[in-house]
Amino acid sequence: MNANLYSLFERHFPDGTEQPFLIVPNGPVVHYDELSALSAQIAHALVAAGCVPGDRVAVQADKHWHVLALYLACLRAGLVYLPLNTGYQKSELAFFFGDAEPRVIVCGTDRLGVVTALDRKATVLTLPELVDRAAPLPTDFDTLPRAPDDLAAILYTSGTTGRSKGAMLTHRNLASNGLALVAAWGFTRGDVLLHALPIYHVHGLFVATHCALLSGSRMLWLPKFDAREVVSLLPRATVMMGVPTFYTRLLAEPSFERERCRSIRLFVSGSAPLLAETFEEFRTRSGHAILERYGMTETGMITSNPLDGARVGGTVGRPLPGIDVRIVDDTGRPCGPGTIGSVELRGPNVFAGYWRMPEKTREEFTADGCFRTGDVGEWVAEGPGRGYLRLVGRARDLVITGGLNVYPKEIEERIDAMEGVEESAVIGVPDPDFGEAVAAVIVRKPGCALTEDDVVAALKGEIAGFKVPKRVWFADELPRNAMGKVQKAVLRERFGSLS
Ligand code: AMP
Repeated sequence: MNANLYSLFERHFPDGTEQPFLIVPNGPVVHYDELSALSAQIAHALVAAGCVPGDRVAVQADKHWHVLALYLACLRAGLVYLPLNTGYQKSELAFFFGDAEPRVIVCGTDRLGVVTALDRKATVLTLPELVDRAAPLPTDFDTLPRAPDDLAAILYTSGTTGRSKGAMLTHRNLASNGLALVAAWGFTRGDVLLHALPIYHVHGLFVATHCALLSGSRMLWLPKFDAREVVSLLPRATVMMGVPTFYTRLLAEPSFERERCRSIRLFVSGSAPLLAETFEEFRTRSGHAILERYGMTETGMITSNPLDGARVGGTVGRPLPGIDVRIVDDTGRPCGPGTIGSVELRGPNVFAGYWRMPEKTREEFTADGCFRTGDVGEWVAEGPGRGYLRLVGRARDLVITGGLNVYPKEIEERIDAMEGVEESAVIGVPDPDFGEAVAAVIVRKPGCALTEDDVVAALKGEIAGFKVPKRVWFADELPRNAMGKVQKAVLRERFGSLS
């Protein structure tokens, strides 16, 4: 059978193709038949531009439904879709173009000069140019048969440390994960998904959009997250997906109240840790327990709290069906509940490797074929034999002080619970005595006069001395990337020399 992901989507499109697929508030309504027609036209335009199956098409463009049509066009023509964060600048783009060697680059009009100067081999088109070229072409296209292991997309990892790597995702990877999520989260044709995420990342592009495409439902489509606007639109939606920042911003918005959430059946959070405190506050304010899930670019979604059943704040739930997740110690032995170790997994969702980095790919897999996520966590028992995963951080963020392991999350949770603390990040900084010393960077709420001594004194009675920060700094905010993840490498760089 043809394993092309587009063919799978098409089988789930609503029968009457004039069903809305995407609604832009105060803007157009795009129907499934328009999406299908434009994707066909763009597929023809890409083939006419010389693309052959396996060629990469790099895209750096603002969020617009035409970008989704372009993504589908690539699938249909057997091309490899390569989305790029709209924030990437010259030197980053130069690296991606050199590494991926795209046949075609599609960019926003404002980027044309930069992109053309950077890449003289590819055909460079602005998105409006591509859509104009496509307009006179046929509105049907014979979707190319693909094998399950053929590449569908390459997504460069956010690379908060070291070089960004291109994760190669196959049609099988994306199809299996999309179907697992539709089933796990109970998506049906009647759903309306509020979509305010960027579409160059796995969350907004695959998790959110695939749920809509694989259930024939519709999306309320916002260019970006704006708390006020989201509150006004919630009564028109049934599901919202977001990064934790979306939820803290909703809580800070006075117009956000229970009444606004009456039509919503599900709030989903992921891509960065949702504080247990946010989970509780949101439940009190809205009546909804946010469903937290965990995944990464290389694997798609791995675990999820249940749709029916207990959603446990501070955990990312249980493995999705068909995915084998384990937590192991340094010798590779499985850890029981309550013991912290490395998270590894295998399943049809696990990527095909890093683009042109066979060595690096080999390093990230165990001898028995499991992918090492680089995340550290533990099983939290919740009913007999039903472990929920609790993440405690990235392995590389672990602080080793005098040979003892300190998991930043344990200390951060205690600091966050202190009166007047907005949020905190615990990092390791160089120390002549201990190798690394625990240090904390804290953001105080306005008017809070907490001092370094206060923090240290409060922690001393609560946790072992080696875990108590040797230094505490205060900052106005924590550096975050586009998906809301705290960039600890940036903090280590900024504060490491002050220690
Ligand atoms: P990315 O590839 O950019 O999606 O980043 C993947 C990483 O984000 C994972 O390896 C985790 O460290 C982190 N992550 C994703 N979801 C969660 C979550 N729900 N809680 C904590 N960390 C998460």
